[in-house]
Amino acid sequence: MTSHVMPTYKRLPVAFTHGEGAWLWDEEGNRYLDALSGIAVCNLGHAHPAVHQALCGQSQKLLHTSNIYRIPLQEQLGDQLIARSGMDNVFFCNSGAEANEAALKIARKYGHERGIAIPTVIVMGNSFHGRTLATLSATGNSKVKEGFAPLVEGFVQVPYDDIPAIEQALSANPQIVAVLVEAVQGEGGVNVPAADYLNRIRALCDQHQLLMMMDEIQTGIGRTGQFLAYQHNGIMPDVCTLAKALGNGVPIGACLARGTAAGILTAGNHGSTFGGNPLACSAALAVLATLDADNLLAAASQQGQALFAGLVGRLQGNPHVLAIRHKGMMIGIELDAPCAELVTLALAKFLLINVTNERTIRLLPPLIIDNQQVLEIVDTLAELIQVYTGQQHEKS
Ligand SMILES: *Cc1c(COP(=O)(O)O)cnc(C)c1O
Repeated sequence: MTSHVMPTYKRLPVAFTHGEGAWLWDEEGNRYLDALSGIAVCNLGHAHPAVHQALCGQSQKLLHTSNIYRIPLQEQLGDQLIARSGMDNVFFCNSGAEANEAALKIARKYGHERGIAIPTVIVMGNSFHGRTLATLSATGNSKVKEGFAPLVEGFVQVPYDDIPAIEQALSANPQIVAVLVEAVQGEGGVNVPAADYLNRIRALCDQHQLLMMMDEIQTGIGRTGQFLAYQHNGIMPDVCTLAKALGNGVPIGACLARGTAAGILTAGNHGSTFGGNPLACSAALAVLATLDADNLLAAASQQGQALFAGLVGRLQGNPHVLAIRHKGMMIGIELDAPCAELVTLALAKFLLINVTNERTIRLLPPLIIDNQQVLEIVDTLAELIQVYTGQQHEKS
């Protein structure tokens, strides 16, 4: 079958018709266990009644007006995000890349207001910030950038989880105005930094008057067991970006700012036609209410720990498993060789997983998974990995 959709994705040969919680059904009626949540998007699972009701109710009333007018649902959502994050204000957009674009514009204008001619942002190796020109330029993965020169300038890259490298970059370049960092690198391989890494970046940013900008697009909205992952560290960034799970599948992004950073963008500086429209905000408000009502931050910690412990129990001793990393319900299993085929092998066993950075199996199940589903993921995946690494070993 030929498709007229531009071939920008390597797609698996399956299409889903409907879902419920952590289950998805394909066109043939097969049922799959979803351990990926559309890449950390459907944190409440599929067809969640609270989101369904919010969308139905809102679509009966009003989908869109314009940011030319006040949007009360946007104001309510802003209040809730501010209360939960400790930040001061928010700009709404439609995706992660757009949220990071807003953050980068804040950094640039902040720099210019301080008389810096080429405001420069420190970014990390192995990072991922999006596919627009500015965000791919900020991304620490050459595959994402290849073919798209000239890149947007104003970035300096240092290795992730390396404080001395940031200190060196700062002494080499007086035009640095901000640090952009993920709390846990998602696309980069579920890389969990040293416990005090973010605290030390916070201290450096204070010392040098830099904006600490956290990309929480994948780690936010409860994924790691806190509403935002920086809350594990007891710190506050100056800018924080959200998207993915904020609407549980309805496109919405947000750029939160605090203190000086919250006063940088003013009327006419930035905008978005769809950003924060009534429909998207109604979904996000339902997501936030459900996180509380169903105690999903605690669930993310508990089930994440159970998954991690189960996988460690089954895979320890396998010499091809180099590491199992996790923060809440973000889990990475790093093998000693590329293992992208595991995605197809898991699909044949009706389990949806992902492999990122070539050899890290990534699990991002919905936060609502139950004990039985945790056991099923552990069983199916551990068995697959044992067989797969055994065969790879025989081949070599
Ligand atoms: C997914 C992701 C993005 C990009 O979000 P889009 O909605 O695809 O533009 C940016 N940063 C991180 C950390 C992500 O995981």
